[in-house]
Amino acid sequence: MRYVKPHYYEDFQCTADRCPDTCCAGWQIVIDEESLEKYSRVRGPFGNRLFDSIDWEEGSFRQQKGRCCFLDEENLCDLYKILGKDSLCRTCRMYPRHVEEYEGLRELSLSLSCPVAAEMILTCREPLRLIEEETDEAEELEEEFEDFDLLMFTQLEDARAVIFALLQDRERTMDQRIGLTRQMVEQMQKCIDEERYYDVDGVIDRFRQLSESEMPQGISMTDEPEMSRYTKMCREYTVFGRLERLRPEWSDLLDDAWMTLYEKGEDTYQEIREEFETYCADVWKEEWTLFSENLFLFFLYTYFCGAVYDDWIYSKFALAEFSVRWIQELIMARWAENGEISREDYIEIAYRYAREIEHSDENLNMLEEWLTEGVYEG
Ligand code: SF4
Repeated sequence: MRYVKPHYYEDFQCTADRCPDTCCAGWQIVIDEESLEKYSRVRGPFGNRLFDSIDWEEGSFRQQKGRCCFLDEENLCDLYKILGKDSLCRTCRMYPRHVEEYEGLRELSLSLSCPVAAEMILTCREPLRLIEEETDEAEELEEEFEDFDLLMFTQLEDARAVIFALLQDRERTMDQRIGLTRQMVEQMQKCIDEERYYDVDGVIDRFRQLSESEMPQGISMTDEPEMSRYTKMCREYTVFGRLERLRPEWSDLLDDAWMTLYEKGEDTYQEIREEFETYCADVWKEEWTLFSENLFLFFLYTYFCGAVYDDWIYSKFALAEFSVRWIQELIMARWAENGEISREDYIEIAYRYAREIEHSDENLNMLEEWLTEGVYEG
């Protein structure tokens, strides 16, 4: 089995009671079969508590006021304290570690929804590197990969490496890097839609060469916007109304953004945006670009190769672009309210976004569909 992980993956350490939030509130914690079986065998007063704290039909921990019922007032877990680390179910043991499964390959990542992981992902100055390891382990889910398209997956892995090179080219502006990447995935998607599968390699090669040349010839590095930024953001804002809401803090962030940025019309929005850009150029300098690069890479590393299952290459890019744009837009809203922003604001907004969007399959699928319908017309 091949394993791939970001170079910082092993450095993660949970800060438990010092965490600015907790991962044991605001969502359902699903318990794996093996742990359910183990919990059903615990006896005594704690066994009774355990029995009453599990929704056995759903196979998840019950909640009190949106918090896991084992979470104490200091945000520590009673199950961990009383039965030890090994008693945790798979979800609690793994989080915020995330696995994407492919034939013969597991891609490991840290979830942006954990504040500590979000800080590691966003603030890493060293360009993201993927570390690869091989083990003797046999494939567990063999039948699931019967129809796995190995040719397409190889193309996706190659394409992702080129995308990384384009997005990590710090000689270019972030807009130029994104513009080039967008063109590459648009062209790949067109090949797939027209069933010209072997032409995908040509697109990858062409952009690989572009990533190595200083000034790409015969290609525009940025796109002409087809609508004003204000119109675009107001239109995109409506999609949040269709998504499942997991936490009240998320609704507050969205409501505040509406009142601060959009309610007063396009001119006010434009003024705020121009002032914010000046503020970022003065106060944030390279950090703003670094955070954008890291966020883009995070989303593309985690989701891009998943296109092997649905052929939706463009939507993986669109999801990354949408996510970075909205995390930054919500940061701008906070700046407009407070007159300043800190690194902590950036981290907080990034993990809150991830909690709502990434941790609900329903939201993720719905958003991807909406982005495909609304944006790509190839
Ligand atoms: S959110 Fe992250 S840092 Fe906080 S308790 Fe959970 S795993 Fe630990």
